[in-house]
Formats: sequence, C-alpha cells, structure tokens
Amino acid sequence: MLERGEVANSWRRERWDSLRLLTPNWQSRLPGFAYDGTDPDGYMTVREVIEFVSRFAAAAGAPVRTHTDVTSVRRIDDGYHVATSNGDLRCRAIVLASGACNAAAVPAFSAAVPASIASITALEYRNPDRLPDGGVLVVGASATGVQLADEIQRSGRRVTLSVGEHVRLPRTYRGRDVLWWMLESGVWDQRYDEIDDLSRARSLPSPQLVGTPERVTLDLNALAASGVELVGRLSAIRDGRALFSGGLRNVCALADLKMHRLLDTFDEWAAGKGGVDAGEPERFAPTEIPASSRLGIDLTRGEIRSIVWATGFAPDYRWLHVPAVDAKGRLRHDGGVVAESPGLYAIGLPVLRRRKSTFIHGAEDDARDIVDHLVQYLQADGSALTKYFL
Ligand SMILES: Cc1cc2nc3c(=O)[nH]c(=O)nc-3n(C[C@H](O)[C@H](O)[C@H](O)COP(=O)(O)OP(=O)(O)OC[C@H]3O[C@@H](n4cnc5c(N)ncnc54)[C@H](O)[C@@H]3O)c2cc1C
Repeated sequence: MLERGEVANSWRRERWDSLRLLTPNWQSRLPGFAYDGTDPDGYMTVREVIEFVSRFAAAAGAPVRTHTDVTSVRRIDDGYHVATSNGDLRCRAIVLASGACNAAAVPAFSAAVPASIASITALEYRNPDRLPDGGVLVVGASATGVQLADEIQRSGRRVTLSVGEHVRLPRTYRGRDVLWWMLESGVWDQRYDEIDDLSRARSLPSPQLVGTPERVTLDLNALAASGVELVGRLSAIRDGRALFSGGLRNVCALADLKMHRLLDTFDEWAAGKGGVDAGEPERFAPTEIPASSRLGIDLTRGEIRSIVWATGFAPDYRWLHVPAVDAKGRLRHDGGVVAESPGLYAIGLPVLRRRKSTFIHGAEDDARDIVDHLVQYLQADGSALTKYFL
C-alpha cells in the first residue's frame, strides 16, 4: 500500500477542527474491525477517527509504505509502471483507493471573486478564527455547508448561505438515528446495477446532517432560526456582484418532498418486512423561505469579507495516465472495475457498488467484490498475486 502521507492522512490533513462524523459510532466498521467504545450512539471527532483507522491499520498488518507520493501511473505491456516520490514500481494490477474527496469542486466563476475577499475551500477551512472579521458567504448547503454555516454564525459573524439542490434529513426519526433506518431498510445496500439513474445517484449531494452529542437536526429551518440568511444557488459573479438563482423556494420544496418520500419508504418497511415497533411516523414542518430572498450581493461594498466554498469534492487523478479518465477528470468504471485498462480497480468512489460506497462502513462489501474480481484476473493471467494499493 502506497500512502503519500500517513495512515488516515485525509483525516489528519484535510478536515476542519470541529468536524465529527455524521455516521454514528456503531456504524463505524472496517473489515473484521468494529467500534468497541462506550458510546455506540455518539459521533467520532476527527482525532477519534484517526485513532480508529490507525488501530485498524495495526490490526490488519498490511504493509503500508508511508510518505510515498504516487506521481504517475502508466500502462505497460504486462501491467503498470508506477512512479513515486520514493522510486518506481512495476505491478500487474492496481487498486485506486486514493479517495473521492482529494480536491475541492469549485465553480470556474470563483475566479471572479474580488481580490478584497478571502476565498476559502472546505478543504482549506479549519475554524472561524482563521477567517477575516466580517460577513461570510457560505456557498453550498449540503453536509459541509450547513455545518460550516452553523459554526461560523455561532462565532459571531453574519452568515449568508447560498442554497442549491440538497438532501434534507432529520437527525433522528421515530426515536432512532436516521442512518439506522437507511441501513436496516436496505436503502444503503442498494446496488449500483439496480439504480435507474446511476450517474445522478453518483452526483447526489451529501445529506444535511451533523454529528453532535445532542443529536441535533441541522436543517435550513434551524439555521434560519439562528440568524443565517438563506439565498438561492450562486449562479455567477459578475462585475463584483454575486448573483443568486430565484429558485430557492423550489429547491427547498423538492428537498422536503424527497425527505418525506424517504420517510414513507421507512414507514412501509417498518410496518411490513422490518416489523419495527418504534415510535409513530413523524412528518416535519416545511422549510420556511424568506418572503423575498436576495438575488444579488455587491461583493465590493464590504458586507461580505470571505467566501467559503462548500460546493463539493472530487477525486484528483492528475497522476493517472490511463485512457479511462474522462475530460472532467472522472474515472470510467463499472462497479470499480476499469474495463478500458485491465487490472485497474477503484474503491471508495460514490455509489461504486452500493449507495454506501463512499462511507467508512461501505468499504467492507465493496472490497470483497473488488478483491474477488482482482484475484480472478490475476489467476486467469497466470501471474503471481502481486498488487499494490494506492
Ligand atoms: C468532510 C468530510 C466528512 C466526511 N464524513 C464522513 C462520515 O461522517 N462518515 C463516513 O463514513 N464517511 C465520511 N466521509 C467520507 C470519508 O472520507 C470516507 O468514508 C473515508 O475517508 C474514505 O476512505 P478512503 O480510504 O476511500 O479515502 P481517503 O480517506 O480520502 O484516503 C485516501 C488516501 O489516499 C492517499 N492518496 C491520495 N492520492 C495519493 C497519491 N497520489 N499517492 C499516494 N497516496 C495518495 C491520501 O493521502 C489518503 O490517505 C467524509 C468525507 C469528507 C470529505
């Protein structure tokens, strides 16, 4: 295994200080290794995630070469040539486990932000103290955006939150964590080849959830109640003005509708196959939209001093020189098997094989499938079982 930093590197280097997992502790599971602490319903801090992954690495005993940055992967006759900061390697097969969130996905028009404004991605953000004083525009209202908007607002700064398409979820439903329902009702195990619109499923934003000891729901109503101003999707920055879509009401109505549809699915499952005797079905108040949300803010007038881009993440494959990477930098694969480049596999990408694929607990089932395929590939090829994981 080649790792450019240390074990659990993304958790050591790329997360903000206050982050906790939004998945509960009982769900934090890696192959043959489960959470064994005293707070199964809690949510791990970043430090605890680093500890958890490091303990797994020690228990698994896989040979990790740390501080080995893979700078290029090229196909050669009998496999791959891998250039690293610690010398070159040749191998028959490769599993790309380099993460789905190495780069911040920021719209191209962010280049038009006036120079007087600090422009920070979610990968760079650490805490509100590192922001300049004054108003903050947080762009994106999925898991990252709602969590950062809440923390920055609490620090005493005025926050404006630009809201595009999002997935609304309550933290708890009928007395249990909403992710318990996702897991038990089978939603999270839904396979990639059973999903009608797979490319849409792969680009869905993360749910508006936060992990706190109080198990609070952090939706747009909660944010608005704490003083965060909601505006529509940021569609352009022109002549120093941030321009917002007028569709805020529609995106919120859609998110409310989809949340209630999902809760219907849970209720049907509970009443039928699940046989769950939990509290009564609940329905939640619609998202309240300001009578008229602002359609533009002049970024040159000092109201906004920083912009935090919580517009999503993407993998970084700039070092991967195989024909299976498309013009947008995405890897073409079928359930993690890269047909265009035999012997190349991926894991940890959105809905790779199941809806849970990018989550920590999603690795186990996907890894089993990928490794089965890889072993057959190497056996068919008659090669020794030599492989490197990046
Ligand atoms: C803000 C945020 C919050 C999240 N919260 C949750 C959560 O609550 N629950 C949950 O289950 N999941 C959560 N996730 C998803 C989480 O990242 C994954 O579940 C998990 O970390 C994926 O593990 P991974 O090993 O696939 O990828 P990563 O953890 O990203 O690991 C990839 C590794 O590859 C290394 N690497 C990358 N490129 C190279 C290279 N060229 N050469 C050598 N090494 C390289 C990196 O240093 C890194 O250590 C969150 C993600 C983000 C971004």
